Amino acid sequence: MPTKHSSPEKSDNFYANQGRKLQEMQHDLEQKIEKFESVADDPFTTKRIETLQANLKEVKSALGMHEMGLYGACIDCDETIPKARLEENPEAILCERCAE
Ligand SMILES: [Zn+2]
Repeated sequence: MPTKHSSPEKSDNFYANQGRKLQEMQHDLEQKIEKFESVADDPFTTKRIETLQANLKEVKSALGMHEMGLYGACIDCDETIPKARLEENPEAILCERCAE
């Protein structure tokens, strides 16, 4: 991948930051899941683990997209996902229209 050594644009920082956020989210989720799995196996906890695992899956897909340099584009229609949406949901891989 060619790298520019000139001063990076703000948008580049934005996407690099999103990548870091996603890595932190993945780490957090993995720790939470581990904690829940070790404490109890009641239906409530099981449900929580399922929710966390679903969320972790989303974060991992977004990270995968990020690694391939495809992050920020909708996987369905290829439209650029607005930064405001990405800031709110770093794991978003669909634009608002396709997510509905
Ligand atoms: Zn879309």
